[in-house]
Amino acid sequence: MSSGLSFAVGEEHGMILEAVEGLLRKIEPQRERYLKLIFEEQTFPEELWGEMARAGIIGALVPEEYGGTGLGLLGMTLALERLSAAGLTNAFCILTTMANMALLRGGSEEQKAHWMPRIASGEAKFAFAITEPDAGTNSFKMKTRATRDGDGFRLNGSKGWITGANVADYILVVARTTSYEDLKAQGLPKTYGLGLFIVDARAPGLEMQVMDTAGIEGYKQYMLYFDNVEIPPEHVLGDPDAGAMTLFQALNPERVLAAAVALGMSEFALQKAIAYAHERKVFASPIGAYQAVQHPLARVKIRQEAARLLTYKAAWLFDQHASPHEVGHFANMAKHMSSELAVDAVDAAIQTHGGNGFVREYHLINLWAPARLLKTAPINNEMILNQLAEHMLGLPRSY
Ligand SMILES: Cc1cc2nc3c(=O)[nH]c(=O)nc-3n(C[C@H](O)[C@H](O)[C@H](O)COP(=O)(O)OP(=O)(O)OC[C@H]3O[C@@H](n4cnc5c(N)ncnc54)[C@H](O)[C@@H]3O)c2cc1C
Repeated sequence: MSSGLSFAVGEEHGMILEAVEGLLRKIEPQRERYLKLIFEEQTFPEELWGEMARAGIIGALVPEEYGGTGLGLLGMTLALERLSAAGLTNAFCILTTMANMALLRGGSEEQKAHWMPRIASGEAKFAFAITEPDAGTNSFKMKTRATRDGDGFRLNGSKGWITGANVADYILVVARTTSYEDLKAQGLPKTYGLGLFIVDARAPGLEMQVMDTAGIEGYKQYMLYFDNVEIPPEHVLGDPDAGAMTLFQALNPERVLAAAVALGMSEFALQKAIAYAHERKVFASPIGAYQAVQHPLARVKIRQEAARLLTYKAAWLFDQHASPHEVGHFANMAKHMSSELAVDAVDAAIQTHGGNGFVREYHLINLWAPARLLKTAPINNEMILNQLAEHMLGLPRSY
């Protein structure tokens, strides 16, 4: 008799996992070179992106009618977790998924028909730009303005920390159509007057300046400066004054996929630590025989299983079209737990490796910044606790 609750991977999701395994087997001879490129040179190998598209990973959230595999967020979650466990996660899967979801749940039929096949084929890579230095976590205070110009808009302002802007084909930019000050004066909610705009990454008037950052495997971050950048009407996503709801449809998958990447990192670190603990012998037994080495790794395993359940549930809820609030709660919990886990897993693996933990070719010290980043971005874990306390527990807003 069926219990109604299954933890088995279904046939369709099994197919995407098989596709990832096939991809990993194919690129195995290149893997070390790729890891060096990604971690040390902050350059994601373009050919690997093409392979990911051909394996159906990039198009996991693109419905079949638009040329994708239509496997949903759970499919993408499983694929990214596995790739990350092999050290090969790609931030553009997350960022392009955000644009994909904004299009799917907020775009017109013409926009879906135009962009989705290009996303699935890997032809259209999207960066995502919301952060501004002066607004920070309080994104609603952003200053970048989109002002009407005929049927389209003009964009002015700046964004910071934008991952991979130099290699993106397009950038999904969040901008204000009504200023924060005007909202306050008119008594409008802060979610009003936010629009989503697809900006050509080579558009005249858009300048980029590289930032000296670490944290995302294979990509650098950029400051973006918009000087009267033209946005044609077909690049405006949904109602330009009411983009906030569409934005949440993009931010929830971002958190779930960040959790998937963190889970994969924890597995990458754990497997390296187990292998090293077996082989390294400095006293009578291999170091893996010492409980001081075993217990941190066993703790990682327990937390990993728990974080995986939360992450899969968040993805499943999204695929079931649960309310953005409910998806948001689980996406937040998954991202919080998985990011804390990733940092502790990398830390335990470094400790297991002793001095070798700091030798770059072991890729553990290289993983430290990417794992640590996930506690701070795409949203900091303190803000996640705030939101859970307020919206799940009903406690007063603290900030
Ligand atoms: C490597 C990297 C890549 C990035 N990529 C992108 C990208 O592609 N696109 C994009 O738009 N942005 C990107 N970001 C920006 C990132 O999302 C922000 O840095 C992050 O959301 C935190 O914002 P902030 O830096 O302004 O921190 P602040 O808002 O200045 O906050 C600083 C700290 O204060 C605490 N804090 C703030 N508010 C509260 C509160 N209400 N309650 C409790 N504590 C609080 C938190 O600990 C927080 O970490 C990236 C950042 C990095 C480092």
